[in-house]
Amino acid sequence: MPIFGKDPFAEDREASPTALEPEDDEASQGGRYGFDEPPRGAGDRTLHDRPGGEAGPGEPVEAGSTGTGGVETGQQGGGHHDHGDPSEMRPVEEVRAMILDRIRPLTPIELHLQEAHGCVLASDVVAELDIPSFSSSAMDGFAVRASDIARAVSDEPVLLRVVGRAPIGRTPDVTVGGGEAVRIATGAPIPAGADCVVPIEQCIVEGERVHVLQMLPDGANIRPSGQDVRAGRILVPAGRRLSAPELGLLASSGHASVLVHPRPRVVVLSTGDELVEPGRPAPYGMVRDANSYTIFGALRDTGVTPFIGGIVRDEVEELKDAVLGLTTRADAFISSGGVSVGERDVVKKAFFRRGEIDFYKVAMQPGMPQGFGLIEDTPYFGLPGNPVSVFVSFEVFIRPALLRMMGRRDIFRPEIMAVVEDDISGPRSRLMFQRVRVWRERGEWRAASTGPSASNLLSTVVRANGLAMVPVGMETAPAGSQVRVMLFRALEDGS
Ligand code: AMP
Ligand code: MG
Repeated sequence: MPIFGKDPFAEDREASPTALEPEDDEASQGGRYGFDEPPRGAGDRTLHDRPGGEAGPGEPVEAGSTGTGGVETGQQGGGHHDHGDPSEMRPVEEVRAMILDRIRPLTPIELHLQEAHGCVLASDVVAELDIPSFSSSAMDGFAVRASDIARAVSDEPVLLRVVGRAPIGRTPDVTVGGGEAVRIATGAPIPAGADCVVPIEQCIVEGERVHVLQMLPDGANIRPSGQDVRAGRILVPAGRRLSAPELGLLASSGHASVLVHPRPRVVVLSTGDELVEPGRPAPYGMVRDANSYTIFGALRDTGVTPFIGGIVRDEVEELKDAVLGLTTRADAFISSGGVSVGERDVVKKAFFRRGEIDFYKVAMQPGMPQGFGLIEDTPYFGLPGNPVSVFVSFEVFIRPALLRMMGRRDIFRPEIMAVVEDDISGPRSRLMFQRVRVWRERGEWRAASTGPSASNLLSTVVRANGLAMVPVGMETAPAGSQVRVMLFRALEDGS
């Protein structure tokens, strides 16, 4: 894979973006990760080269994951077969805690505000000066002494002498004495001697003189210095994720760059001899690589920097080359496929003996076989191959871990209790994540299943905005009952 020879992230941390190269979460890296050449993958081979297996449409979900050759039937088969031996399966919470325990926030670096957007501030930023740094006028009008105009009414205006002009952007070269007024623009520094500004609408100007039609109290229409933030106070606290208001405030206090936890650079690999790039022809029996793109999107949504490493064949050496060549440049690896017990389960074969990655079964559906470990200190997440398992595993294990690497404190998705429209079932010994669409109706949350639970049916995720959880020990959450639902996207994302 030619791409492994390069540093895909070379531009990332060193480059200080200029004003001409704006970057934002959604749009920044589009071109950077496109393939220069098609990846070396299954697309170039013929069916004859393909080793064993006769996967056909509708074939199992997590095939081989059980060691029994069983099929996860989901809801279609009428009943749930529990392939996992409960004594061998580890609870979801325990696995997540084990993973999070090994994840640390990335070492902070100084980034320009444009780059720092979306990152978490690593130390308090303190205001060095008052914001605003000088007292200024809030209106176009005249800077005067409040005591001079104390008796002004429209019938009997007070007449003042106009002695000059206070422009924006510099120290006024005039002062305001008794009986005097200085013309002033919005935002201009208040000249010495003045203590209020009369808006132009409350004045009648007559050559070098001005009639003030109304009294105003001391301080009227003046923005005092330090009104927003006083010098010495915390401008933005450590731990805060920098979004629009924070960037604006930091800029207004003169901070062009700040110390933040950088975005993790995450390499995504898809394993499987049957896989082919979405843009290439897929001969009968070949499968388009969905997972690279699901994970890419999930990574972008999380705010990290993804890199699609491409398809790796089920060859131990190829996988090792791909991974080991990037350990110093990647902050995490995510691979999909090849973590169960089939003879060609490449991830397991590549890393099992080295003891770097633990492979285990999690008491969840989908997503039972998983692997996690550190390879040369870089976290490696080995996900199962089925597309829905990938999505759910990412949500449950990887997203919180990446947010922790980014220094975030709130790392879990929001959860709600919702009334289910239909029965939701899963194997008793596992935590079932059922794709649902939730909405609010007459003051309560409701959830409807978006389709069968088999873990190859990605369209059920497309229609969903939440994952309903049927806990271990329960087989069916009956229609009308309350279930816990994790929301994985905004409700307004479209229906
Ligand atoms: P595995 O875990 O490698 O045995 O894969 C389980 C199932 O997921 C098989 O049907 C694979 O073809 C499928 N699969 C694996 N990787 C991908 C992928 N990147 N995109 C779509 N389907 C995949
Ligand atoms: Mg595979």
